[in-house]
Amino acid sequence: MNKRLVTILSLSILGGMIKILGGILYGSKALLVDAFTSFGNILSAGLVIYYYNKSLAPPDKDHMFGHHRLTVAGPIYTIVIYSAIFGIVTMELINTIGKPYEVSEYAPIMAGIGLISYILAIGLSRKVDISLKIYSKFTGSELIESGVTIIASLSGAYLSYLIDYIGAIALASFILYEVYFSIKNIIGLISDETSKELIIDIEEELNRMGINTSRIRVRKVIEDLYHGDIIIKVPPDTSVSDAHTIADYIEKTLRKKYNIDLIIHIEPG
Ligand SMILES: [Zn+2]
Repeated sequence: MNKRLVTILSLSILGGMIKILGGILYGSKALLVDAFTSFGNILSAGLVIYYYNKSLAPPDKDHMFGHHRLTVAGPIYTIVIYSAIFGIVTMELINTIGKPYEVSEYAPIMAGIGLISYILAIGLSRKVDISLKIYSKFTGSELIESGVTIIASLSGAYLSYLIDYIGAIALASFILYEVYFSIKNIIGLISDETSKELIIDIEEELNRMGINTSRIRVRKVIEDLYHGDIIIKVPPDTSVSDAHTIADYIEKTLRKKYNIDLIIHIEPG
């Protein structure tokens, strides 16, 4: 692991610890929920990055089309982790019903310090390689959550604990939204969605080459990577060698331009 990655991880964990401490010592339920989501976030981001790197491995005997869809493991783990966290914080919030509590004015300060360490972590991860960019994207929502926590715990300290409690409920609901978002993401990927835009682009490209097609099929493997097959028509007297040259040319051109892995079927026509 490089130094920057260690720094980013340490800052994220530090941010989470500060929030947990603040939640326990200074009574803010919003801060406690936020702290749990911070740890869930670190764990998920770690798994997302781990599987992203694994997905880059070239094809092998077990995975002949490559390992691209290993990236799905990231959102699957995210669902498990966030669902568990949702359960924990929901129990905590249910147990608090009918029990007024006091929020110390130190709670929003702890939330603020937690936020600063997160901003530093995100700032550092933006500059480096792609897997850390995934992390920074992933952690962006943490910033919004921190904002909600600061406002909720500040109002909780100076106005009423109920505002802090409502903030905690809002943050817990946001966990559910993130679970939903991950599920949507996975279903989109594994259901072999097509890309209508890409099919139109390919059609136009083949028209420019003067090639007639009778079918173009495209499915998304992962974001910005596609599989597909195309049936093209060539004059019946074309030699196998010439037909192969045409198919080869189309495959290579389209792969380069659209990142699509193609099989071309040839028909006389
Ligand atoms: Zn493999």
